[in-house]
Amino acid sequence: MSTPDHKPDSADKISHFIRHVIEADLQSGKYASRHWSGKPGPSKDSSVGAGALHGGMSAPPSARTVSNLDSAKIRTRFPPEPNGYLHFGHAKSICLNFGLAADYAGACHLRFDDTNPEKEEQEYVDSIIDAVKWLGFEWQFGSENNEYFASSYFQWMYEFAEKLIVAGLAYVDSQSADEMRASRGTLTEGGKNSPFRDRTVAENLDLFRRMKAGEFADGTHILRAKIDMNSGNINMRDPAIYRIRHATHHATGNDWCIYPMYTYAHPIEDALENITHSICTLEFEDQRPFYNWLLGHLAELSCINTPPPQQIEFARLNLTYMVLSKRKLIQLVDEKHVDGWDDPRMPTLVGARRRGYTAAGFRRFMEMIGVAKNHQLIDISVLEECIRDDLNDTAPRRTAVLDPVKLIIDNYPAGHEEKCLAPNHPQKPEWGKRAVPFSGELWIEREDFMETPGKGYFRLFPGNRVRLRYGFVIECTGCDKDADGTITAVHCNYLADSKSGTPGSDNYKVKGNIHWLSARHSLAVSVRLYDRLFAVANPGEGDADFITELNPNSLTTITAQVEPSLGNSVAEDHFQFERHGYFVADRIDSKPGAPVFNRAVTLKDAWAKATK
Ligand code: ATP
Ligand code: MG
Repeated sequence: MSTPDHKPDSADKISHFIRHVIEADLQSGKYASRHWSGKPGPSKDSSVGAGALHGGMSAPPSARTVSNLDSAKIRTRFPPEPNGYLHFGHAKSICLNFGLAADYAGACHLRFDDTNPEKEEQEYVDSIIDAVKWLGFEWQFGSENNEYFASSYFQWMYEFAEKLIVAGLAYVDSQSADEMRASRGTLTEGGKNSPFRDRTVAENLDLFRRMKAGEFADGTHILRAKIDMNSGNINMRDPAIYRIRHATHHATGNDWCIYPMYTYAHPIEDALENITHSICTLEFEDQRPFYNWLLGHLAELSCINTPPPQQIEFARLNLTYMVLSKRKLIQLVDEKHVDGWDDPRMPTLVGARRRGYTAAGFRRFMEMIGVAKNHQLIDISVLEECIRDDLNDTAPRRTAVLDPVKLIIDNYPAGHEEKCLAPNHPQKPEWGKRAVPFSGELWIEREDFMETPGKGYFRLFPGNRVRLRYGFVIECTGCDKDADGTITAVHCNYLADSKSGTPGSDNYKVKGNIHWLSARHSLAVSVRLYDRLFAVANPGEGDADFITELNPNSLTTITAQVEPSLGNSVAEDHFQFERHGYFVADRIDSKPGAPVFNRAVTLKDAWAKATK
């Protein structure tokens, strides 16, 4: 069955304004006639050179001459600067861009925005690739591998700048930075034209080429677009497009000593890659007029395909109890408030993955919150609920006793042991049951016994009966204490004919049902109980120093008892520890036979009650 081209594949997707734009464009065929040679480049009609990848090797001219209609209905891109680890905000952008491409038979490019010479590192490139793959997306489209580095477009960006100069649309300014700032004007007052604004084309071209040749020191000249110093939008007052920067670039080395400004580079990157919908966050809204000015002129100059890409802004994702600014995350790591970028409490994707959050849970969350045009602050419990929902579906059930105390069954035959059958998932009988060893000495949770019970307490207290989940009904007889009054063991007798699953076992009606492990068989493991990193909903709000608002109890490490079979868990195995939440075997610290478990989320939202 085929779906109309302009409708998303999946009808249950929530619609939003970006979908409306895309659907309208597909309907009108706005981008249908664009050509695409299979790789980024200028328009096939452009007189610009075939270009140089990574500043050096020229692509053979034939690379651009074979050009067909673009088979991708739309093209989007995720354009991270490889200068840090991706956080939950980036996940929003990834899910949106890759998700839209998938829904509308399009391609989404992974583009490293590495035009800034000083900051990028391979470590970040690798971690970004990992994170996007982990979220479940790919940049392969048919035979195209759409992974790109913006720095490989430097030659084209340079040639386009020369075209702008020749067209009288750009000039070399030689004012100092201070002079330029002073003549820019304010929000209420227009700016002043630079004394260099009327240089001739020949003079501009000469100076620009000498800038490129390395004749001038940093900051002595700058190339500016020639627009309008009186524009109401400060970004249109002759913005800088190229600056001199004698710096070594991680990919192009010392090939260049002039570098394009982000506002100039980004639209061109989009155009060279045939992007149709360039989705970015709201702070770029004021840049949209320049985006359109630049690409409009480059289209007129036959440099790029038409119609050019369009920029669409949406609100950044912000989450309560979290900070999502790279600067603040760096501070958390540098000052050792967390154990690195992949600390499970960090709102980074490497951290979330270690924590046990799932990619499907993230995708569900991003789909659910939709896309907004205004500032968006989402309650973190919404994300936690999505992770919980996903794990509820996918995580097998196991038993763990987090705060163990001995339960001694005094009438159980000495030395005897047997098996009890526990379902791997209560709603999925097809997942089968597992055999759990049972014996006369068990571990139970300390909180499952009270010597003098409060009202409504149905678990163990002297004289009361409970069922040991998937096992026998027992009747509590008392407890042992040490000199301080701490309970060291609980005693009971079992009812031998009450074993779950045996005939007549249902005749015993008890109100309490507790979990347990055979002390002789269980395995002691390290378990980390994570909580929110911040104690307040809006860290750093007002004048607050966000560091003072860290939750001092965001990590508790304990030794817990778990089912023996869990000794075989491998990194990233997820489980529900019944009554406790969802846990994952830590992908860094788990060793064969000695897994370390991280709690991803509790079974219920503990904060909902606490904060009401
Ligand atoms: P930060 O502000 O954390 O430093 P950034 O915007 O500088 O992030 P980039 O690497 O430039 O980081 O971002 C890559 C893409 O991710 C951009 O398109 C950006 O708009 C998007 N992005 C970053 N943060 C968020 C967020 N909180 N919500 C949605 N999209 C985001
Ligand atoms: Mg950025």
